[in-house]
Amino acid sequence: MDIALSRDPLSAWRIRPGELPVIAGPCSAESRDQLMRTASGLAACKIHVLRAGIWKPRTRPGAFEGMGTQALAWLKDAGRSIGKPVTVEVASAEHVRDALEHEIDMLWIGARTTANPIVVTSIAEALRGVDIPVMVKNPINPDIGLWLGALERFANAGICRLAAIHRGFSTENTGKYRNEPIWRIPLELKRRLPALPLICDPSHITGSADLLLAVAQNALDLLFDGLMIETHCDPSAALSDAQQQITPAQLSALLGRLARRDPSNGSDEYRAQVSSLRHELDEIDDSLIRLLASRMATARKIARVQKRNNVAMYQPDRWKETLRNRSREGEEQGLDRTFMMQLYELIHEEALRQKEDAK
Ligand code: PEP
Ligand code: MN
Repeated sequence: MDIALSRDPLSAWRIRPGELPVIAGPCSAESRDQLMRTASGLAACKIHVLRAGIWKPRTRPGAFEGMGTQALAWLKDAGRSIGKPVTVEVASAEHVRDALEHEIDMLWIGARTTANPIVVTSIAEALRGVDIPVMVKNPINPDIGLWLGALERFANAGICRLAAIHRGFSTENTGKYRNEPIWRIPLELKRRLPALPLICDPSHITGSADLLLAVAQNALDLLFDGLMIETHCDPSAALSDAQQQITPAQLSALLGRLARRDPSNGSDEYRAQVSSLRHELDEIDDSLIRLLASRMATARKIARVQKRNNVAMYQPDRWKETLRNRSREGEEQGLDRTFMMQLYELIHEEALRQKEDAK
């Protein structure tokens, strides 16, 4: 389906020519004072939209679940105090009603909500006939269909100022990111909907303040159109996502260090392509390393069972069979036989060393 998008989906952001579109503000609205202090710090930063979560979808019960409707007026006032539009996450038709009553300027759909077509439909229906920008975060699982489907549901309800936010995907991995960025998915979305602005949320991707700059730069290298970065007047005291929030001063420094790419420049397009492929390689290497570590851990478990049963750790027949099977399987995948043999010699050598050490 073709989505009818406005010619300038980011018009409500009031971006001056050449500026990088940025949404900033706390993970959660905690008090009027926290929002006012954060906003006044942000007044000195090149940002366009003030954000805050009011109703917080927490993975486990018992965590801080947001201040609720009362905080909408605080957010609106904080935005007015610095002359910026404000945005909140809505996860139900009631949230939409409350947000519209408080003249919230734009809405975003959280990752958990995007994954639920029934809820998305009820939010979209609540917005029928309302002209408000809606930003749709990727679903928590890496499924482009759900992301596209949510955007289509809003488009069907007449919302034409849409944007997509990449906040990473929830995977089983224990890598360095809280939510794995899978860049090819937002890039594929952009290929299918070229007029759709792509925003990157490095805060929820990294889960950690010290990784924000690198991921934000990756996003700009891939020609993303803007950023959403969680910012708090006192990050260490934040009631949610404390580790990933930065102060307005830190945000200013981060924005100052980002290099912009010019999409009209052919060589930048080349760079974006190479950069996307390199990110894919990095992700694959990351998985390879984790798989190797987990293979070694299993070898150590085997060693413990063997020791308990007084069995030798090196079993020549098993090793011959492994080597034969792996090099055949590698060949079937187009990998060189000698390369496979050498690789497995190395893996086996290290596994034996680790088995010796296993207690
Ligand atoms: C948020 O932006 O604070 C949030 C809860 O995000 P996500 O839906 O990406 O988890
Ligand atoms: Mn958050």
